Amino acid sequence: MMVVYDLICDSEHQFEGWFKSESDYLEQNKQGILCCPICNSTLVHKLPSASYISTKKSQLVSQKNMPKKSRAQIDRIVKEFSSYITANTEDVGNQFAEEAKKMHYGEVVERNIRGNASVDEVKSLKEEGIDVVPLPVLVDKKKLN
Ligand SMILES: [Zn+2]
Repeated sequence: MMVVYDLICDSEHQFEGWFKSESDYLEQNKQGILCCPICNSTLVHKLPSASYISTKKSQLVSQKNMPKKSRAQIDRIVKEFSSYITANTEDVGNQFAEEAKKMHYGEVVERNIRGNASVDEVKSLKEEGIDVVPLPVLVDKKKLN
């Protein structure tokens, strides 16, 4: 499991950072590796809340809760994010909820997956203590498939 922190930079841009652990976050922040995806500021700190996802990859940043940006900036970020997701996750399609549960209970090897899940499936995952992170709505589904 990974830990996801809501991060904020000194210009109050909010974004998520995915880490192996809290000490991974602290180490990256100390080394100045962490930076805001909008303004590249390395003056980043953690907001109080945290959530978990089913992946082993660190330093993935999603585009939730971001302030308004130009169309070109959004296109660039979405393109980079899409190619990151495509390169680093396995598409399990409609088996997403089932695979996430299998990983949670150790029935299959833990890995990074993406796929589709209904509202009910996501609800049932959360009831079993499995949190999943939705992809940004702007991700080009065609590129993912
Ligand atoms: Zn910023």
